Amino acid sequence: MKTFEELGVSEEIRHAIEELGFEHPMPVQEEVIPYLLGNGNDVIALAQTGTGKTAAFGIPLLQRTNPNSRTTQAIVISPTRELCLQIADDLKSFAKYIKGINIVAVYGGTSIINQIHALKHGAQIIVATPGRLIDLMHRGAAKLDNVQNVVLDEADEMLNMGFSDSINEIFESVPTDRNTLLFSATMSK
Ligand code: AMP
Repeated sequence: MKTFEELGVSEEIRHAIEELGFEHPMPVQEEVIPYLLGNGNDVIALAQTGTGKTAAFGIPLLQRTNPNSRTTQAIVISPTRELCLQIADDLKSFAKYIKGINIVAVYGGTSIINQIHALKHGAQIIVATPGRLIDLMHRGAAKLDNVQNVVLDEADEMLNMGFSDSINEIFESVPTDRNTLLFSATMSK
C-alpha cells in the first residue's frame, strides 16, 4: 500500500488530510492522483459515492492550481446543490494549509446575486450545477477562458437529469487543451 507522499501529494495537502484522518489512499485515489498530477491527462473513472472520489480529483486539482493568479483554473460540475456544497466543503478542507485558494460553490434555486459577488473576488475553483454556471457565464460573472481542468462528477446522473445541452455549452466555453475528468457510477458508450 502506497502513502500519499509516494503518490506525489504536496506537504500542505498531506498536513490537511492527515488531520481529517486519511491514513492511506483509497484505491481510486491510488490510481487517479499520480496520473492527474502528471501533465495533460484526461480521466474517466467509474466510482460510486463513498469510494473517496472527491479527494481523487480534488487533491490533484488543488495541487495544480496557482494561488497567485485569481483567474478560474478549474470547474467541477455536479448535478445537485447538495453535492456542490459537499464537494466545495471537501476541497476547502483539503486546501486548509494552501494560502490564497478561493473555492466558490454556485447552484440554482437560490439568489444569484451573492454568487456573482463571490465570483467577483476571484475563484480559482468553481463548483457548479450546470444551469446556474451557464447563467453566470452569460452575465459575465463566470469567466472560463483560463480553465485547465473540467471535472464532471456523477456524469450519468447529469445526463439522466437532461443536462447534456448545458454541459456541451460549458465545454464550448473552455479552452480546447483543458483536461477533462469524468466520474460516473455507471458508464455507457
Ligand atoms: P467520497 O467518495 O468522495 O464521497 O468520500 C467518501 C468519504 O471517505 C468521505 O467522508 C471522505 O472524507 C472519506 N475519505 C476519502 N479519502 C479517504 C482516505 N484516504 N482515508 C480515509 N477516509 C477517506
